[in-house]
Amino acid sequence: MIRKYTTKTDALTTILKRKASETLDVTDKVREIIEAVKTNQDDALKQFSYQFDQYQATEFLVSPTEIKQAFELVDPALVEVMKQAWHRIYQFHEKQKNNGYIMTQAGQVMGQRVLPLDCVGVYVPGGTAAYPSTVLMDVAPAKVAGVEKIILITPPDKEGKVNPNVLVASQIAGVDQIYKVGGAHGIAALAYGTQSIPKVDKIVGPGNIYVATAKRLVYGQVDIDMIAGPSDVLIIADDSANVEWLAADLLAQAEHDTLAQAILLTDSQRIFEQISEELQKQLANLPRKAIASQSIENNGKVVLVENIEEACQIANKIAPEHLELAVLEPFAYLGQIKHAGSIFLGHYTPEVLGDYLAGPNHTLPTEGTARFYSALNVDDFVKKSSYLYYSKTALQQQITAIAHFAQAEGLQGHAQSALIRREDEQ
Ligand code: NAD
Repeated sequence: MIRKYTTKTDALTTILKRKASETLDVTDKVREIIEAVKTNQDDALKQFSYQFDQYQATEFLVSPTEIKQAFELVDPALVEVMKQAWHRIYQFHEKQKNNGYIMTQAGQVMGQRVLPLDCVGVYVPGGTAAYPSTVLMDVAPAKVAGVEKIILITPPDKEGKVNPNVLVASQIAGVDQIYKVGGAHGIAALAYGTQSIPKVDKIVGPGNIYVATAKRLVYGQVDIDMIAGPSDVLIIADDSANVEWLAADLLAQAEHDTLAQAILLTDSQRIFEQISEELQKQLANLPRKAIASQSIENNGKVVLVENIEEACQIANKIAPEHLELAVLEPFAYLGQIKHAGSIFLGHYTPEVLGDYLAGPNHTLPTEGTARFYSALNVDDFVKKSSYLYYSKTALQQQITAIAHFAQAEGLQGHAQSALIRREDEQ
């Protein structure tokens, strides 16, 4: 049963307290896997593929024949939906593209170039479910950024087959190569390279605790996007909201996994009273009932707030991954929200719109990290490089100042590098 609170009687700290997301520490185990892949490359990949995925690997690269077969297996209507989703997601991300700039003044030119990463690895989970939507979301900003080579890895089943929806989504998104390998060993392969799998510059994409830990451990060798924890939603609802829709939205989140978090903040006594019963009613028909009910039990909360302003203040403290403003005038409150990964405005904008096809990215900061992280975006796939030119005259005007600064820092060699160019010394 979902836990109920009122801000009048319950301390905010109780309301905001969240169960530790992951107590399992697999760092030592994952470090061993990474070391083995670094040393023994494909041999280690084959051993771990058999150990963790029961796949007796002879080949990791997905062949053109396998891709062709995938298109024969996937419902053409779904292919069409994925194409439309790709178009919308791509268009949304195109707006994020930043150009470099240039500044010029007497004898000086300086600027900043924005350059795409050469090669990116996208991890697509393949353990308990397959996520073609994640393919589209993680590849779109990389493509818009202009990344030359996009490698995708995903774990296969024990026959070495990869989910056909994932393969089709990869083709729609223009992935260059797909490898059937997953888990921590797949991440290690992307970070260090093996005989079969090219080394990349950055690894993005969600995964289980082994994948997340491996990403954390290879950070520095390569860049990573973020460490994704369990998903969460926070819904702010006023009395204009439909309690059935609210329950459906909470359950859509809860069915992700037992650690997912679904919170409802409402100033409506009616909704506060009716939500538990409605959740029970809808849970009964949910195929993933076992997961969703445990998630609601563990982390679900309904809070009766004084007003929507108070709800917005609480939301900023929680910094949710997804925030739904299920209120009559959602735009009136948008300005009050400072910390949220992605915001969904009004009764006809459920979070699932954003999960699949509206345009904004669904790879979002979890566990309160929306205070300092952003949704996956085009800037994640570029780096910035500055450049500088001074003419002879322009440099002469700065030599004394440079030398002054360098000497203050005790770096005579630095000072000399400027002084040696002084006109009257040449
Ligand atoms: P996964 O691909 O992340 O992990 C499966 C792989 O883990 C296996 O193929 C195996 O290689 C490895 N593994 C399994 N047991 C292991 C062990 N004991 N030791 C070492 N390696 C082991 O797939 P998953 O397990 O289904 O997890 C996917 C996760 O990604 C879920 O938590 C899901 O909620 C999350 N997810 C998040 C988003 C998002 O946008 N935030 C989207 C999709 C999925």
